Amino acid sequence: MTTATVTTYNKNEEEEKKLILRQYRALLRALKQRLKKGDRRLVRRAFEISVEAHRDMRRKSGEPYILHPIAVARIVVEEIGLGVTSAICALLHDTVEDTEVTLEEIEQEFGVIFAKIIDGLTKISNVVDLKADTTVQAENFRKILLTLADDPRVILIKLADRLHNMRTLDSMSREKQLKISSETTYIYSPLAHRLGLYEIKSELEDLALKYTQPEVYTEIAKGLKETKRDRSRYINEFIRPIREELQASGFDFEIYGRPKAIHSIWNKMRTKHVSFEEVFDLFAIRIILSSAIEKEKEDCWKVYSIVTNFYRPSPDRLRDWISVPKGNGYEALHTTVMGPGGRWVEVQIRTARMNEIAEKGLAAHWKYKEGNAQAQESKLDSWLQHLRDILTNPDTDTLDFLQDFKLDLFTEEIYIYTPKGDMRVLPKGATALDFAFDIHSELGARCIGAKVNYRLVPISHQLKSGDQVEIITSSKQKPSEDWLGFVTTAKAKSRIKYYLKEEKRKIGDDGKAVLQRKLDHMNVPLSQHNVNELCVYFKKPSPLDLFYAVAVGSLDLKELKNFSVHGDKLHQPAKEIKLESRSLISEDEVKHHKPAKGAELIIFGESSDRIKYKLAQCCQPIPGDDVFGFITSGEGLKIHRTDCPNAAQLLANYGHRVVKTKWAKNKEISFLSGVRLTGLDDVGVIQKITNVISGELNMNMRSISIDSRDGTFEGNIMVFVHDREELDALCQALGNLQGITKVERLEAQQE
Ligand code: MN
Repeated sequence: MTTATVTTYNKNEEEEKKLILRQYRALLRALKQRLKKGDRRLVRRAFEISVEAHRDMRRKSGEPYILHPIAVARIVVEEIGLGVTSAICALLHDTVEDTEVTLEEIEQEFGVIFAKIIDGLTKISNVVDLKADTTVQAENFRKILLTLADDPRVILIKLADRLHNMRTLDSMSREKQLKISSETTYIYSPLAHRLGLYEIKSELEDLALKYTQPEVYTEIAKGLKETKRDRSRYINEFIRPIREELQASGFDFEIYGRPKAIHSIWNKMRTKHVSFEEVFDLFAIRIILSSAIEKEKEDCWKVYSIVTNFYRPSPDRLRDWISVPKGNGYEALHTTVMGPGGRWVEVQIRTARMNEIAEKGLAAHWKYKEGNAQAQESKLDSWLQHLRDILTNPDTDTLDFLQDFKLDLFTEEIYIYTPKGDMRVLPKGATALDFAFDIHSELGARCIGAKVNYRLVPISHQLKSGDQVEIITSSKQKPSEDWLGFVTTAKAKSRIKYYLKEEKRKIGDDGKAVLQRKLDHMNVPLSQHNVNELCVYFKKPSPLDLFYAVAVGSLDLKELKNFSVHGDKLHQPAKEIKLESRSLISEDEVKHHKPAKGAELIIFGESSDRIKYKLAQCCQPIPGDDVFGFITSGEGLKIHRTDCPNAAQLLANYGHRVVKTKWAKNKEISFLSGVRLTGLDDVGVIQKITNVISGELNMNMRSISIDSRDGTFEGNIMVFVHDREELDALCQALGNLQGITKVERLEAQQE
């Protein structure tokens, strides 16, 4: 376990003033060429207002607060590449939210554009309201996305704000660190990715990993440091012949090797089940050309042929994002070649212009908008337009949409052509129906099939990159529930859900009329109170569901005679209480829950109350693991590991239902846990393993399964352990056995 080093802050007033001025001057220097006449005065004014407004505020670290807005402004200019307007808004970004300064004052002083941007920033700053419930949180995320579609500068400044907060997370409490980090992985890094801000995206992911899984992070960082010399030597050896040849051919270029982000190395270790030592592509080689815009493509391919003259390329690892840029505007040529010593090395070839887009994403697009890049520019624009359409539709279920949208953000892309040869970008796994909805909602709703490369296919047919698709429609067709099973895009899903709801509403109207007549007979109105009473009795989640059930006859209206009438109010039958416990357990209830015998390991909050809990199946925590408690709707408190695959989603969406938990020192109970082994097949291996477990360590083994194939084996062992320490001891002892090459903790499947 590593403890973060928090440098204690102590500076006197003089030193503080100097520090603030130094930071401010650095900002001016970064803005230099962009300052037009009169700008300097405006920036100065924003700085003064911010200094004055935050005068008495300090950050958790003890520093004067003003250092934060200055730092955010510097990130906005230096790392994202935005100009004076954004810098001024960054300086002022926390004033309206946290100080006396008002939007009107800002509008008077700077103008309406500034006030609008700061208003946007103020509206979305409440996302870290951890007390808010799910729908409020989802609503906040929706606001973020809406402002993004409105003026992208708002979200770019917000990302800079988040980046600076992540960089200075050390002084926050552990709970805050976890929640802010989870929110970062959940929404901000995917957004940075979608906007093409690769540098910021990987730094956000690395920092989030550092706080959610400090051990993993330090292990990989240490590994990278230790292998640095070897790596440099290898990179130099790899680069030398290419450099010489590029020089001889007269290219103006840069070539270097760059380590991959810690987070992406971790992803590889986790998904491929390999150790740090086994991750081969720890770095990529980058070649950046200064080419004239009309020679870009030609030059990149020339360089490709030079590289592959020296090293053999892997045929299935060529990615041409120059002919067809990624949806977020990324352009480059990627290839993986066999380097010296038989190691696969990824080489990325791009021009200085493409490189700037890769690093600064959206912001760089604006800069080149007047240039030639119309094609990819319009792609980003149409993505923003599409986002705006969905979000402003009042019938979009925000929470659902967010889930689908996040999937959209991450998946790979395929390129599909219309019969006229226009290209559309869709996520991998998209079906003919997704394509139809992508073109037009009406086309999707009426779709009965498609012709893919002139061959007739059903609407559920999965498309491949390069397919040419023609949609076949019928005016009799309408969307049905099962369509949701085979569309993958957020757009198709939200449109289908919308149609289904509309349909249900139409039928519901009939049911409502029937119910109205029944209640008329009983002399009571169809009031909100009465409808609610009926919903509870018939167990319907909403009035619409109630009306729909009446219309289709799935509930028995004869039961109405069991109700009693007081004035104009209906009351459900008294003896039979049908109230379901669909509400959450309140925190109070959890706190006062009497401890059950034998299962009292968790300490809740700051007090030392012990309460009843369940261990989450998805990550199977054991004492010693870093954990948090989560109040579920039906099963009380569940304990998850902070590195559980579901953790980020839970923490970001249901922050208010998370409770602080830690393990008590109590060794009476053991927990079922598992390890996975790999090694060389050997007749005595099972005996050796069982000797260690039941003999040396005296543990209870529940099951062991060994699979051997071609001289190697893989085994899963389930054992009862008391805590993390015991499990670690077991892994160590097994790892020391001859013939065993790897031991790791068994991860359960996702729930
Ligand atoms: Mn801020």
